[in-house]
Amino acid sequence: MKNCIFCRIINKEIPSEIVYEDDDIIVFKDINPQAPIHLLIVPKQHIESINNIDKDSISILGKVFYVAKEVSSKFAVSEEGYRIVVNTGKNAGQEVLHLHFHFLAGRKFSWPPG
Ligand code: 5GP
Ligand code: ZN
Repeated sequence: MKNCIFCRIINKEIPSEIVYEDDDIIVFKDINPQAPIHLLIVPKQHIESINNIDKDSISILGKVFYVAKEVSSKFAVSEEGYRIVVNTGKNAGQEVLHLHFHFLAGRKFSWPPG
């Protein structure tokens, strides 16, 4: 998608701090971190949001959580814990319309979220 910022990051048209990449998924640091560790786990396929997932994407979404586990080891936060967030639509504050999973760690998070 030409005007999608995350597609442009995936295509290396704009720089990002990539911490993991394979054929299906890229993980890079959020530009405006909300925690000491704030990564974005992004399927490379342009899917706008959870609302647009189709059956062909299901296996990649499973892989997202496998990558999250790998990333939690890499950043040594498996034991202390982390939070994964997917904002969907206006009320959740989704700003980038390319499905992404926030991986947040390095501090304690409150519940319920704001
Ligand atoms: P959303 O609100 O859509 O769930 O989250 C979008 C996230 O993408 C925000 O946390 C924002 O800081 C991050 N973001 C937006 N533009 C860029 C960018 O150009 N580079 C990086 N690394 N992160 C971005
Ligand atoms: Zn995109």
